[in-house]
Amino acid sequence: MGDHDVDLFVIGAGSGGVRAARVAAGYGARVMIAEEYRVGGTCVIRGCVPKKLLVYASRFSDEFEDAAGYGWSVGKVTFDWATLIANKDREIARLEAAYTTTLERHNVEIVKSRATIEDVHTVRLATGARIRAETILVATGARPHHGTPIAGEKYVISSNEAFHLKKMPRRILIQGGGYIAVEFASIFNGLGSEVTLVYRGEKILRGFDEDVREHLMRELGLRGIKVLTHKIVKCIEKVDRGLDVALSDNAQIIVDLTMFATGRRPNVEGLGLERAGVKISERNGIVVDAYSKTSIPNIYAVGDVTDRVNLTPVAIREGHAFADTVFGGKPTRVDHSNVPTAVFSEPEVGVVGLSEAQAVEKLDTVDIYKNSFRPMKATLSGRDTRVFMKLVVDGNTNKVVGCHIVGPDAAELVQVVAIAITMGATKADFDATMAVHPTAAEELVTMREKAISYGRAAAE
Ligand SMILES: Cc1cc2nc3c(=O)[nH]c(=O)nc-3n(C[C@H](O)[C@H](O)[C@H](O)COP(=O)(O)OP(=O)(O)OC[C@H]3O[C@@H](n4cnc5c(N)ncnc54)[C@H](O)[C@@H]3O)c2cc1C
Repeated sequence: MGDHDVDLFVIGAGSGGVRAARVAAGYGARVMIAEEYRVGGTCVIRGCVPKKLLVYASRFSDEFEDAAGYGWSVGKVTFDWATLIANKDREIARLEAAYTTTLERHNVEIVKSRATIEDVHTVRLATGARIRAETILVATGARPHHGTPIAGEKYVISSNEAFHLKKMPRRILIQGGGYIAVEFASIFNGLGSEVTLVYRGEKILRGFDEDVREHLMRELGLRGIKVLTHKIVKCIEKVDRGLDVALSDNAQIIVDLTMFATGRRPNVEGLGLERAGVKISERNGIVVDAYSKTSIPNIYAVGDVTDRVNLTPVAIREGHAFADTVFGGKPTRVDHSNVPTAVFSEPEVGVVGLSEAQAVEKLDTVDIYKNSFRPMKATLSGRDTRVFMKLVVDGNTNKVVGCHIVGPDAAELVQVVAIAITMGATKADFDATMAVHPTAAEELVTMREKAISYGRAAAE
């Protein structure tokens, strides 16, 4: 170990940092991890986990409504925000303790402090203490970013604060079109708030398949979410009746709360990265190679701070691969293709692989199979909703290269489809798979008619 205090110093105890620390320690490395807020990071403390708990809470209202068509009289239902938040907080505290215990069991030393890099082998804690480390891993994640400041910015909350509101807003305006904005729009809508979603582009969920974007926008509208596109919030003023929000088209909306979910920025500022010579990209992410090594040979970075694919399972995989590479003697790259992903809106979105547009750009020939249909449950409930499913197929190899689902349990479904796609399943394999009846998912193995053919097949 030479003159080093530890073999590995990890900055940030989130998804990527915790996994890397634990696995490196398992290989016998002496590991120290610094966390300035709470062990577990964004996902556990103010991301995926608390969000999914709110999503569950928000979905009961549909169940109560739909029950009538099936003969149930549910009676008057009430919802208590304070109970939900208190129960959620208890679960998050339990998880934080579990993460802490796991690290301690692996002999990882946890320091509850901000850490910065003083030089390529020295980390400085908030107390001023200096730790000499053979290897440094930066896993500091990202934070909400609101863009150009506006008048009345102080009335805007981000997803961080949304988890700790004292009261549920009766009327909320959410600005943003990404998955976090859409998910919170569905959460508040399901819990009974009046929701307005404001987005500067033409369609929400930029980067997703066009059909998915259109389908979800329609579904959100059917549920009473006001989706206003081609607009941004210009300024916000506090008035007697709440917050007076002026939009770029001069429309004015009165709400109780404004939330922006307009993007996230890697946490690179003030870390001492420039001083150490670590290269940062134009988009503010730490530049790394396929093994998560930065421009400095003993400094690595994983997770959202590298701005590759900003999802928890990816950060975990990158952290694990880093530890295998540096401490396990097993150089491991992470495959960032075919990462399945979900939007926990209502209805849910599940996606893996290429969108139609990406496939057309990348491949010579592309076949599209798609369908939209009324789910069986909606027949008796009378709910106005449709499921959407699409398979994108490489016309040359017959391999399924993309799957897009909007509907109940889309996230659960796409996780399983992702296995088939990762294995290189062809459309013929999907067709040869027996259906499970009656399910919505059987559509995935029974779609026979090409909706569109691009490339050679189209020219023939
Ligand atoms: C509202 C929301 C919902 C999300 N939902 C999902 C989802 O459903 N599925 C999914 O896969 N992903 C989801 N994500 C994304 C996911 O949370 C992140 O991709 C993931 O947490 C990234 O892990 P990480 O280790 O890179 O960083 P983080 O988990 O953010 O951890 C970084 C840690 O570093 C700490 N830190 C920062 N700087 C310092 C410093 N100088 N010293 C000490 N500590 C420091 C921070 O306090 C933080 O705890 C969601 C994110 C948000 C905000």
